[in-house]
Amino acid sequence: MNHIERSIAATLRQPGELVEHGLVPRVALGDLEKVAARYAVAVTPEMAALIDPSDPDDPIARQFIPSAAELVTQRNEDADPIADHSHSPVAGIVHRYPDRVLFKLVHICAVYCRFCFRREMVGPGKATALSPAAYDSALDYIRAHPEVWEVILTGGDPLMLSPRRLGAIMADLAAVDHVKIIRIHTRVPVADPARITGEMVAALRVEGATTWVALHANHARELTDKARAACAVIVDAGIPMVSQSVLLRGVNDDAAALEALMRAFVECRIKPYYLHHGDLAPGTAHLRTTLGHGQELMRALRGRVSGLCQPDYVVDIPGGHGKAPVGPNYVLDANSFSREQPGETRYRIIDYCGDVHLYPPKP
Ligand code: SF4
Repeated sequence: MNHIERSIAATLRQPGELVEHGLVPRVALGDLEKVAARYAVAVTPEMAALIDPSDPDDPIARQFIPSAAELVTQRNEDADPIADHSHSPVAGIVHRYPDRVLFKLVHICAVYCRFCFRREMVGPGKATALSPAAYDSALDYIRAHPEVWEVILTGGDPLMLSPRRLGAIMADLAAVDHVKIIRIHTRVPVADPARITGEMVAALRVEGATTWVALHANHARELTDKARAACAVIVDAGIPMVSQSVLLRGVNDDAAALEALMRAFVECRIKPYYLHHGDLAPGTAHLRTTLGHGQELMRALRGRVSGLCQPDYVVDIPGGHGKAPVGPNYVLDANSFSREQPGETRYRIIDYCGDVHLYPPKP
């Protein structure tokens, strides 16, 4: 336990509080107040405790402590970078792919991530949750679309709801015959693990549908003992977990950091699922890297850890065209390398060390 964990009892929401606790220099206060006026700030005691204030490049601070760089919006950055709005048939629902919908219940989170692609829509000052009428309309939409097999609860963070409210929502969804999977995307088990109580986990289990929990974390240090215990409560209840992470410059954009993160997930019985390329959210350029660098990292990861530890590296195509896998290609010259015998194509395949082999080996 460091001095910050001992001295911070509540979530820090004001730049002045960040200064007071030594997490940012006083000289930055003016700029950070401008950032906080536009984008929500919240650093829970758990996350604050992980920050080393003497390290200007601390990977946890980069995720949660605002920066003056957020005041600069780059060309191509957009308030709604993956076009949630144009795929929203009714308030609270995003229907981008045929068999699944996002159901955005709340607009608040335990922490506010500086790279969030919904940063213009989350935080205090925005509508905190769907109104009862909007909730009913969203549910009616799901009921009226039998192709919806999976409902993804996102937001905001759905685990900011009370267990009682969440349980009622889960029951409503599970009562829809064609809804078989309810997936909950959350940062709460790492950001505020005390919220993962037996009551909360009981609310997640429901007759008639299978619950999955997708944990969002970006650095191995986030998987603290308390976070691991919270995840264990979820998995021990029979709820499978997957991970999602964002590739972030200065946080996890080196092979060792990614390796440690993926190993930590698997140790917690969480299957690595997605590594997202950073979305073109406003004021986030300083946290993005390039697709080429991401591919290099994925190639390096393949050489370091088993398939169990491999996420899919994906980019959400701006304009709402969905996710595309953008990981490295291990098959060179597919379908065109050599037709040495009629009807047989040979391929060049790269192994995990970078060496190239012919497949099939003999012509
Ligand atoms: S928890 Fe998720 S929705 Fe909330 S700020 Fe972080 S990335 Fe955005």
